Amino acid sequence: MLNPKRIGILGGTFDPVHIGHLRSALEVAEQLRLDELRLIPNSRPPHRNTPQVTPQQRLAMVEAAVEGVEPLRVDARELGRDKPSYTVDTLESLRAELGVEVQLFLLLGWDAFCGLPTWHRWDELLKHCHVVVLQRPDADSEPPDALRNLLAARNISDPLALTGPGGNITFVWQTPLAVSATQIRQLLASGKSVRFLVPDAVLAYIHSHGLYRALN
Ligand code: ATP
Repeated sequence: MLNPKRIGILGGTFDPVHIGHLRSALEVAEQLRLDELRLIPNSRPPHRNTPQVTPQQRLAMVEAAVEGVEPLRVDARELGRDKPSYTVDTLESLRAELGVEVQLFLLLGWDAFCGLPTWHRWDELLKHCHVVVLQRPDADSEPPDALRNLLAARNISDPLALTGPGGNITFVWQTPLAVSATQIRQLLASGKSVRFLVPDAVLAYIHSHGLYRALN
């Protein structure tokens, strides 16, 4: 029998997607030997959307960024809604579509991971997926008390030793590129270039649609 597929998921606003997201995604995909890594643009409440940039345009930019880049993909299931989806709902929807055997890896930065105990039905997340915490090599980080027992029970130090569809937590160390979407929006709003901070296809999309000319 074939080995089950290994699929990573990375949620984000991607307003816009940039090389920080893409390098990080590619490095994790290689390290974990993923068959697919899906970038999942978040829905945002309408009043939080960047003026002049629609969710469909954020999606189009992510599509342009990953076009032809294996194993990166885009998954649009959270868009088209007026409010953010809970991660547990997204995972349930993925499971319903992909079946119970697929190995799912939810990528989270350290800060997001530490906030996990505040998430909707957070104690169910590991039923659906493994959690991969992206950690900076220079971070000295103590998990919050609420996560200590969970980590003791579920942490597996070698990411490639994670087996089965979900249930474990692992850490991947990577140095993030010093790029943020906020910085890119600010540069564009002040008429500066963002060349080499986003893929050329994203740059072309931003310019042809006149995006990010004004700040929130
Ligand atoms: P903003 O500046 O608007 O807050 P952002 O650049 O942080 O946006 P998000 O869409 O919020 O981008 O990020 C999606 C995911 O990508 C998050 O998990 C975030 O931690 C991660 N991420 C953001 N920037 C980088 C980067 N430079 N390198 C690696 N990962 C990043």
